[in-house]
Amino acid sequence: MTPGKPMEEVAIVGGGPAGSSAACLLARAGRPVLLMERSAESHHKVCGEFLSVEAQDYLAHLGIDLDRLGASAISSVRIICNRTIAEAALPFRARGLSRKSLDEALLNAAASSGARIERGATVRSIAPDRAGWSVDRSSGDQLQAHALFLATGKHDLRGGKRVTARTRDDMIGFKTHLALAPAQRSALDGAVEIVLFPGGYAGLQIVEGGIANLCLLVSRECFDGVGKRWDKLLEFICDSSSPMASRLDGAAPVTPRPLAIFGIPYGFIHTPLPSEPEGLFRLGDQLAVTPSFTGDGMSIALHSGFISASAFLRHGRESSIYHREIRSHVRAQIRIASLIHDAGRWPRGQQKLVTIFQTWPGVLRSVAALTRLRSGAIHRALVAP
Ligand SMILES: Cc1cc2nc3c(=O)[nH]c(=O)nc-3n(C[C@H](O)[C@H](O)[C@H](O)COP(=O)(O)OP(=O)(O)OC[C@H]3O[C@@H](n4cnc5c(N)ncnc54)[C@H](O)[C@@H]3O)c2cc1C
Repeated sequence: MTPGKPMEEVAIVGGGPAGSSAACLLARAGRPVLLMERSAESHHKVCGEFLSVEAQDYLAHLGIDLDRLGASAISSVRIICNRTIAEAALPFRARGLSRKSLDEALLNAAASSGARIERGATVRSIAPDRAGWSVDRSSGDQLQAHALFLATGKHDLRGGKRVTARTRDDMIGFKTHLALAPAQRSALDGAVEIVLFPGGYAGLQIVEGGIANLCLLVSRECFDGVGKRWDKLLEFICDSSSPMASRLDGAAPVTPRPLAIFGIPYGFIHTPLPSEPEGLFRLGDQLAVTPSFTGDGMSIALHSGFISASAFLRHGRESSIYHREIRSHVRAQIRIASLIHDAGRWPRGQQKLVTIFQTWPGVLRSVAALTRLRSGAIHRALVAP
């Protein structure tokens, strides 16, 4: 321990689903945990806000009551390309809930389990040292941690950058909340719609309060082509998809402007090197990034929270054991999802996909099942200490 620097047994950076779930479980096991979250208060995030059944299982285990939070229910999926619509029942009942509500509920659950939560606490950089990990905060102070859980989502930290070579990161993500016209809201209710358009895809579903989440991914090239303007992008998507044009007819924005994110390394899975220092646990998007259409990013984040906490309780700071285990849980689903993501970006691939899904709705159900975490891995995570 360095004199003057406080020493933590476990420090967690980032209070999204990954960091909060790990904090909750470690605190419940009686371990002292400090979680640092840079946002000072609840806020919106770029996300489709689709909660898969796996994510719901983890949330229930953490005591998050989705009914009380007003989450919508989603039981079918529609894939739309031009005028072709393929529809299938989902193999589970999904839920829709804004990240603003969900992430706050998770942070509250971690605090009531006994974790110390610091809001407005931004970590600037990390570095291994003799006692474990040294953490530099933007407030100018430092601390040391025996074990460090890195759960900063898409944001890389100096000293802990992800190696994202061989991933594709040329898409921009947007998210906004809309009040749809009543007839369009009823038509969307109970379904998630994925609209394929040249250069990307958009997802539309209802969240709490009957508000619609519109979240989309578009290539930089396409966004540049519409003059880098959100209103022009929406016009372009509606011109290429009349079902989308109908949905958005009469819609009013609920949030002042769309949120955007770029540089998302789809297909990334952390590969631990033999030289990697122990005591650094990567969680959520710092561990792996699955294509967004799967709606499985949050369940991977929660899964990593559960598996990392149980690995720490069993093996202490030997993070290499955790990384080997969790990599084997997510690798196959992310590979399959990445292949579909690539095919779904280009007009010819899009038309082929939707025709296959329309002809054989069972294929669409299988895709939904194959691009998510396996139930065996989840079952083991839920029964682990
Ligand atoms: C366009 C798009 C749509 C998506 N749609 C869905 C969907 O419908 N369903 C689904 O399950 N997944 C979806 N995902 C994926 C999902 O959003 C992520 O996988 C998930 O949020 C990862 O959780 P996390 O806890 O790792 O990171 P995050 O949720 O990003 O949380 C990270 C936290 O760390 C904090 N932080 C960052 N840097 C610092 C720092 N330096 N110091 C302190 N705190 C810091 C941030 O403020 C944030 O609160 C989507 C992703 C995108 C891009």
